[in-house]
This record gives sequence, C-alpha cells and structure tokens, in this order.
Amino acid sequence: MVDDVILGNVEWILRKAMRLLHENALCDNCLGRMFALLGRGWSNRERGDTIKRLIVMSIHRMIREGQEEGEKLLKEFAPNIGEQVKDLYKTVFGQEVSFRPCVICGSKLDKVIAELGKQAVEKLRGYRVKTFLVAAHVDDNVKRLEEHLRIEYGLQYAESIGSELKREVSKIIQSQLGLKPDFNYPDVVVEVWFPLLQVSLRFQPLLLEGRYWKIGRRVSQSTWITRRGVKRCPFSVEEALLPLLELYDGTQLVLHAAGREDVDVRMLGTGRPMVVEIKEAKRRDISVKEAMEYVNHWSRGLVSVELVGRSNREHVRKIKGEKAKHVKTYRALVVASRNIDGDKLRKLEEYFDNIVVRQRTPRRVRHRRPDVVRERRVYNVKIKPISSRVFEALIRCEGGLYVKELIDGDGGDTTPSFAEVVGEELYCAELDVVAVEEVAPSKGEVQ
Ligand SMILES: [Zn+2]
Repeated sequence: MVDDVILGNVEWILRKAMRLLHENALCDNCLGRMFALLGRGWSNRERGDTIKRLIVMSIHRMIREGQEEGEKLLKEFAPNIGEQVKDLYKTVFGQEVSFRPCVICGSKLDKVIAELGKQAVEKLRGYRVKTFLVAAHVDDNVKRLEEHLRIEYGLQYAESIGSELKREVSKIIQSQLGLKPDFNYPDVVVEVWFPLLQVSLRFQPLLLEGRYWKIGRRVSQSTWITRRGVKRCPFSVEEALLPLLELYDGTQLVLHAAGREDVDVRMLGTGRPMVVEIKEAKRRDISVKEAMEYVNHWSRGLVSVELVGRSNREHVRKIKGEKAKHVKTYRALVVASRNIDGDKLRKLEEYFDNIVVRQRTPRRVRHRRPDVVRERRVYNVKIKPISSRVFEALIRCEGGLYVKELIDGDGGDTTPSFAEVVGEELYCAELDVVAVEEVAPSKGEVQ
C-alpha cells in the first residue's frame, strides 16, 4: 500500500522527465531545475543526474531482459541525455553517441555560472562593501522557452534559470569574498546577464540617520543657486555634509530633512531630524562616528550634525511625510514700533492658547510658492520683555506655520497675529527654531 503511494509519485516525476528528455536535449542542470522545488540541499545538477541515471538503468534493464523496445529507446534518448549514457551506448552499439546541446543553455550553464562568478568576484574586489544581492537578466527567448516547457509539461516544481544564476553566483561571491547576501538593503547589486556573460555592479545609496543644527545665520538648507548661477547664501547644511560624499565614495548627496527653516533662521536646541542619502556609495566600511566627526570638523562651526546610524527608505518617508505634523518651538526677537507695556505682552500669552491661525502664503514667498490659505495651530506662547520696545517670544506651534507673519500679520494676510492682538506694528528681528518634536501632541506647554 505504502509502496503504491510512493511509486505513484516516482512515476509522476519520471513520466515528466522522460517526456521532456524524449523531446528535448537538457543538461543535468536544466533538467534538474524542472524539479528544483523537490528535495532540499541538492544542486539542480544532482537532481538532473539522478533522474538521468534512473532512466538509463531502466532502459538497460529492458535490453538485458531482451525487450525489443530497449535498443530503440536507447537510440532515441541517448543524444538528449549526455554523459550518463555514454558507456552503455558504446557497449550496445559499438560506437560513440553524439550529444545534442541543451535546448535552454546550450550545455554551457556550468561554465556560465563559473564565468559570471569569476567576473563578479574580480569586479567586487577592491571595493569596501559588506553586503550584496545578485540580480539576473535573462534573455527573453530563454525565458519564453522555459515558460513554454513549464506549461507544456506541467512542471509546477520548476525554478527559473534566473533564480539558479542568482543563487549559484551568490555562493561563489560568498565563499570567495566573504560578503553577505542582503535581500533588503544590500550595499551593492551584482547584475549578471545571460547568455551575454556580462557582470556589472550597481552600488546602492547609503542612508544615514541623524539631526542637524544651524548655528550660523544666512545658511540655507540646500545649496541655493540663483538664476544667474550665483550662490544665494555663503554656506548650506548640504555643503556641510558634502565631505561624506568623498568619505563614502559616492556620486551625489541628497539631504532629506523633516521640514526646513528660512536661511536667516537658526536651528538650535533639539536639532532637526534628517536622513542623508549618498548615492552609489562605494566605500561602506566607515563608522557613523567617524563620518560625523569628519563633517563637524569641516563645517566651519556654522553647522553641526549628529549621525546615529544607518537608515532606510521607510524612515525617509516617515520624516518627510510627517513634516506637517511635527511640533516646532521657535524663539523670536520682536521689535515694536512704539513702547509696549507688560499688560499687552501678557495678553499675547493669554490669547495664543491653542489658537488656530489662518494664513495666506506670505507676500515674500508668494512668487515661488502656491498662493493658498492654510490653517495652523499655535499651542502656546511665552513672552520675556527685553526693553520697552523689544521682547522675546517662545512660540510652540504646528509645523508649516510662517512665524514671521504670525508676528507682523503680513498686512492682514495672517490672522490672528501678534500685531493684531497688541494693536501695534511689530517686526520679527531674529528667529531660531529651538525644538522639532517628532510626535505631535494636541496641546502642551513650552518647554
Ligand atoms: Zn542546460
């Protein structure tokens, strides 16, 4: 009973294999690959070899038993089978059999894998990378043929030649260079082409997570080049990060930050969350600490950064996507056109307690940003008088609020505003961001 069940499955495999081999020449690799998902820890060559030996043994038995069909079948199968049948054929017919090349790989797959592996190892040597992934580009004709065989013979346990190339070339890279495969965030993608026998390397972007502080004014976030091709500001956060490009041997640097501040606004306190992307980084074995020290050494004291570790695309999406939700705290130095008394300043603190401000895109940026009306919440305000006409304000609000306009009212386009509430002309002389909070509570105190 048990025998029957197993024999039924043996027959299932052998029937398909015999039909395949009767009609197509297949090398051991390519035959084995048609049953790749059956059995574990074997190579496809071992699978193909085992099946072929079994078929040759069966035919040999027919001949030994004097079954007429035996020799006929040997003649038909031998050119499609290969080495496994060589000696038997010579014994029976007294001559050599000439083999047909494998219909899928031309009986070159072993050599192809060895050659692609060799090229990959040669190309990778010398780069300081730790992880890799192999990607295979297989010619469309080969893919179509495989697909045809899979459907025609009902081979649901087959694997594609691309998968085999990826796995086998990976093994060579692992064993010869000690690199580790990484399917999510590899340092480098090794691209192999079949049957072109080409290998190329595609270095992946390196993403570093951290924060930046802008200690100097007139420092922009990205390098801002005017239409006349002149730098708008003498220095930028992006420029401060540029040494990373050289350090990690990349081709381009992109700064992804959680929002941005105006060029004349400093970023102090908590710093601003960011992810630094270094495209095609070819030197990956530099510690984040070393990189951070390098940047801070060259940033002329205008910008300071903290790098905490490797990051990924999801994190980039998170810090960029949630920018509107970030809670920011600003410190503003405000100058009034006339003397302003303590009562009015207290009124400001009392009034701006969880207040929604309606704000049209400020006049100063309307020429380059969409002209819209937005609503942003001011959670609270703390005032410290400096002199009769100057005071300092700590403003905790939703990200995306234009704070300079919250103070001066922008000719009525921002309402309510500080100027409106105190009934005086006000001007924001200095502005700093002192905190960027990544979670957004609904209401709270200025820290
Ligand atoms: Zn083949």
